[in-house]
Amino acid sequence: MKNKTFVRSTKCSLKFNSFVKKTQLNLLLNEYTRCLEEYISFLWSQYIDNQKVKIRFLKADQPQIETFLSARILNSCINHASSIVRSRIEQIQTYQNTLNNLSECEKPTQKQLDYKSSLAERIAGMKEVPVITKKEMRLDSKNSKICLATNVSFFDLVVELCSLGMHKFNLLMKKHKHFNNLLSSGRMMSGIVICEEYIQFNFEFEKKENTNKKTIGVDIGINSCLTTSDNKVLSSSDKGKPYHTIMEEIVRKRKGSKAFSRKLLERDNCAKYCVKQLDWNSLSSICIEDIKNLRNCKKTNKIRRHWNYRLILDSLKSNSELHNVCVNLKNPMYTSQRCSSCGYVNKKNRDSIKFICLNCGFAANADYNASLNLQQNLHNFKRSEVPSERKFFWDCNGIRRCGEEYEAPLSQN
Ligand SMILES: [Zn+2]
Repeated sequence: MKNKTFVRSTKCSLKFNSFVKKTQLNLLLNEYTRCLEEYISFLWSQYIDNQKVKIRFLKADQPQIETFLSARILNSCINHASSIVRSRIEQIQTYQNTLNNLSECEKPTQKQLDYKSSLAERIAGMKEVPVITKKEMRLDSKNSKICLATNVSFFDLVVELCSLGMHKFNLLMKKHKHFNNLLSSGRMMSGIVICEEYIQFNFEFEKKENTNKKTIGVDIGINSCLTTSDNKVLSSSDKGKPYHTIMEEIVRKRKGSKAFSRKLLERDNCAKYCVKQLDWNSLSSICIEDIKNLRNCKKTNKIRRHWNYRLILDSLKSNSELHNVCVNLKNPMYTSQRCSSCGYVNKKNRDSIKFICLNCGFAANADYNASLNLQQNLHNFKRSEVPSERKFFWDCNGIRRCGEEYEAPLSQN
């Protein structure tokens, strides 16, 4: 039943707190981290010695650490340590399984051999004690109380830290839009994560039953941010500025300048806004391209280099989760070269933003055509099946050479 809910989190800045409070927090964070490191190294030595780790400590074999921290906060610290160790062990096991599978291969290719040795190296590196790179405390309701004030002027979010082993104190924050959105639609969880700069709050959401039937293909592009198979183009920011214009402006700014980073932020906000504009409440699933290697070489077009494809993909995925919409990730191979009407694939079908099929004459915007291809349930072929001339027909049953046209579906033109 666990997969019926999911968790979203947001961060609230601690910058408004006084120097005294920040010092107090630092003292607490340092001590917590010191204990955390000790617990981790204890658990780790147990794992290395007998390959077993007790998920929770028994009171008797709990190492005694001299600290001012209270038993309550140490308990959170112990849980934190065991979750870090556990996830590291799980990671090692996953890599180990892949490695074992590769070793069973009778005639491994050079690529597989290279991957094998890099995996072995990675596993060896992971057998060192996990290192804490960022100081953070995970606290639950025993040590922290979240107060949501409603009729105060400025600080409307207060976390009271107590039972610490030192004087209790309050941390003041300001709620923001994202926080309020999560609060209005989800259930706030009692566990929080405290760092030097911010507190992270978590919210739990129920997955809604989805009775929609609509599936659309969504093409993620540079000219148009999103193009859907129901022929909608979503490509402007909330202020109406086109995505492509922002991309052109980025290229003109000096890399590393303040104006440059402002533009990048504007680009990301624009993309997120476009994703939100999809008609989420009517969808059952979306089909999107999963581009694994975004090649960035010298030849790459200047604008393409600043394409935030990953962010758009992640945003689509997270909105899908929120609306319980299924995500179908599709291989991007040939989706922009295929005619969505007759299935003919040819590089020359596409002329930058225009698509004109050389077989049936179907003409459309190239991104729209790609989104139609994504929506269709096409056969998943292997690279080796593609004829060397790279001109072929491709549909739900497979791919066919051009010489076998009699088998090809009739053109609909
Ligand atoms: Zn065609």
